[in-house]
Amino acid sequence: MLRILTSFDGSSPRDDVGVHQVDEAKFVVLANYRRQEGIEEECLAGSGARFSTRIQNSGETAQKVTVVADWQTELYVQYRDLGFVRMPGEVDWRQIPGRHEKTQVTYELTVPPGVTSLALYPEYNYTDCCQFVERHRSAGVDVQSIGKSQEGRDLWMLHLPASNPQAKRFVVQARDHAYESAGSFCVEGIMDMLLSDDEKSRLLRREYDVYVIPMANPDGVHNGMSRLTSERGANLNRLITRADGAHLAIRNALNYARPDVYLNIHNWQIKDIDGLLVIEPAMAAAIMARMPDDVAHGKKWYVESRQDWLKSQKLTDVPETSKSWKDYCLDHFGAIGVTVEFPWPGRTPADMRLRGASVFAALGFAALETGACRK
Ligand SMILES: [Zn+2]
Repeated sequence: MLRILTSFDGSSPRDDVGVHQVDEAKFVVLANYRRQEGIEEECLAGSGARFSTRIQNSGETAQKVTVVADWQTELYVQYRDLGFVRMPGEVDWRQIPGRHEKTQVTYELTVPPGVTSLALYPEYNYTDCCQFVERHRSAGVDVQSIGKSQEGRDLWMLHLPASNPQAKRFVVQARDHAYESAGSFCVEGIMDMLLSDDEKSRLLRREYDVYVIPMANPDGVHNGMSRLTSERGANLNRLITRADGAHLAIRNALNYARPDVYLNIHNWQIKDIDGLLVIEPAMAAAIMARMPDDVAHGKKWYVESRQDWLKSQKLTDVPETSKSWKDYCLDHFGAIGVTVEFPWPGRTPADMRLRGASVFAALGFAALETGACRK
């Protein structure tokens, strides 16, 4: 017997109201179903990008199943004709194709007995973050609690102190937006690289006091949201948003860490373009000199400086309502701030870990070389 499970950490739809069983082997799932009318990307039939479900096969043999993810809108669905699966007992996610027609993407798969995860992008939920934090804490890494989310979940900051008292401070932040799980895998790769014994990581550890905020939006991640903390909640990537515990925790943590270099990791849905969003064009050039287009995964860089963005918006100053933490770190600490977007299509979690390690090193060395973070 086949069943679609909901209501787990990170599930979207959140509950069974979003699941329609057509016959014993076919289900239509309202991918982005919301329990109440939300705002921005969290509308009932909205433009949100969260789809995380689990298929339970309680029989004794493998079964064929058809799962139709219905996004209830045609907007952006052309970016979603793929999914990632994780079979029972497996750790790794692998990409599978989906067939796109109008508002729907259809997946055909054969599921062994047990629970198979099917999601638009590999899941990395609040529980995964708790395990990541505990793993590092028990290995002796300094882990600080920086506050609680609006719904009482923990926000953490991992700290790797530099061996050099003159070191600059480097802050990494991920998962402002709930669906963008790439950031979590990048953070894993950054920690693995920094805790390794190679030459590059020794240099970076000498020059930088490193702080890592692995999951800025635990409520949104747990609640199966797309970008916000809840249906009508905060956008944690904006300085001006609805009052929220996680938002306050991030602000306090940045005020404590006072970064010289700041990296915020996202994954947009555009399939073949990596985003490098910077304050100064020179910093993008210095990063790309160390990290060329990722042609092996079919990606090209798109660079946008603050000046480019202002020009495209026909503005002379960044309005307070458009400012993100990168602007906050520049305005308050003179930090070099960079936002990256690393889309999932064609990449595995292992690729994403390497991507995180590479961009941390590229930005770290670029900032040292240009002297941009000299006090
Ligand atoms: Zn984002």
